[in-house]
Amino acid sequence: MKMEILEKNDNILRIVIREADVPLMNALRRIALAEVPTMAIDEVVMIENSSILQDEIIAHRLGLTPLKTDLDTYNLPEVCECKSEFGCPQCRVTLTLDAEAKEGTRTVYSGEIVSENPEIIPVSDKIPIVKLAKNQKLKLEAYARLGKGKTHAKWQPVSMCAYKYFPQITVPTEKCADCDKCVDICPKKVFVMKDEKVDVRDLLACNLCMDCVEACPKKPAPLKVEWEKNAFIMNIESTGALHPERILQEATKALGKQLIELEELLKAEAQ
Ligand SMILES: [Zn+2]
Repeated sequence: MKMEILEKNDNILRIVIREADVPLMNALRRIALAEVPTMAIDEVVMIENSSILQDEIIAHRLGLTPLKTDLDTYNLPEVCECKSEFGCPQCRVTLTLDAEAKEGTRTVYSGEIVSENPEIIPVSDKIPIVKLAKNQKLKLEAYARLGKGKTHAKWQPVSMCAYKYFPQITVPTEKCADCDKCVDICPKKVFVMKDEKVDVRDLLACNLCMDCVEACPKKPAPLKVEWEKNAFIMNIESTGALHPERILQEATKALGKQLIELEELLKAEAQ
């Protein structure tokens, strides 16, 4: 298997993976969505809420606020040694929010949440939680825990995780003097006209929609759009909870663990 990085920053990872197949790519995608743990608010104790939003809606909004996650320090509650329903400092983070509109209507943002661990805070301090009118108050204590996307989407580390086949485009060898339909119709602007010839401007943007081939007035179209059977472009966009490389690493680890479990079950069955 070969890997090439196309784009990498704090939230986005775009890679080409060669010598792989669809089952593997799909397994990684699904595990990244459902099995890689992240931190999210799981329980809210409302102390005072005189805003117009009900406690449940505020709790839901807090739950969906992505938190920066530290997988090396914290345990999943179900495997933590404390075995406590309430949790311990190894499996729970306490956050508090105490907001009041003293001078007039104002919005309470995620940046006002105070965490006992300064590493476990909302990924952005600009997420609106509630709007308070003058003299309204919101005071609460919240508990964040590690969890998995298969239990609730708030624990999903990715806002997007997808792959597509690596495109292979063959442009016509002859000149297309009075037609540029394929250039115009492409929603991804893959083609460009160069000296009356169709040329590929951005191969990796192609999503194999085939609009260009259908738009070509010549039948069969001299323009060919195909894909490589064993090469894929994978896009991972993190919510900000974990680095995208870490998400992929954890996904491969989880897949390995599941395969070992299966192997052990098969061995036990054979005995
Ligand atoms: Zn614990």
